[in-house]
Amino acid sequence: MIKLENIHKYYDSHHVLKGINLTVDKGEVVAVLGPSGSGKSTLLRCINFLEQPTSGIVEIGSKRVDVASAKKADIFALRTSTGMVFQQYNLFKNLTVLQNVMVGLTSVKQLKKPEAKTKSQDMLKKVGLSDKLSHYPAQLSGGQQQRVGIARALALDPEVLLFDEPTSSLDPELVDEVLATIRNVADTGKTMFIVTHELSFAREISDRVIFMEDGVIIEQGSAEQIFTRPQMERTRQFLGKAV
Ligand code: ATP
Ligand code: MG
Repeated sequence: MIKLENIHKYYDSHHVLKGINLTVDKGEVVAVLGPSGSGKSTLLRCINFLEQPTSGIVEIGSKRVDVASAKKADIFALRTSTGMVFQQYNLFKNLTVLQNVMVGLTSVKQLKKPEAKTKSQDMLKKVGLSDKLSHYPAQLSGGQQQRVGIARALALDPEVLLFDEPTSSLDPELVDEVLATIRNVADTGKTMFIVTHELSFAREISDRVIFMEDGVIIEQGSAEQIFTRPQMERTRQFLGKAV
């Protein structure tokens, strides 16, 4: 379970998140939609403290961190219970596919190498990359690189997976393979938070859709509700033809 209580984020005087309250159940898949600059990435990054919220409380599973009294160890524990998949993959260029997945297991999780290797091979099998273990990122397509990113996040067995526009750097013909991989992960019952511009994918995969504007969640509901009966004019406008 994730619980956000009254999260605010300022960059200097710029108030980017204006009191976000949200509870996400275990196994729930939440899609975050909203216009550019509305604070979607900032919200995602505040959940795992890649950005420190200015104030508020983040709770993931049994870990509860109040920004006002957060200690480094608490933040580290919270961060290790999340996995993140970035738009730009963020793979290590000088490591092979297998090593890219192993590195978090040997460092963060402190697994022994053979164990980390077996687990990484399993994860790479799940994303359909068993035949690329000794390739380097530059030898892969964008879609394959992103699937390595997903395997790497999954390998750490996080309580929640955070995706920030995982397909928006991809050529259109590579989008589907990554969406299919994400769909497979969702089917395993992982709690997931997905910022995406792929409206039809959001509609199909999510249990709940959140619509953000100007640092506030202005509307949320089931995908069915938001896509067929949005309450707010702004949501209706944004979804445009999709509604
Ligand atoms: P997009 O759909 O374009 O990715 P977004 O909804 O993810 O947009 P954010 O990246 O969260 O939006 O940005 C929200 C606001 O915060 C923007 O006005 C942005 O300029 C500002 N912002 C984001 N990151 C920083 C930063 N590191 N320093 C200063 N301002 C920032
Ligand atoms: Mg963003």
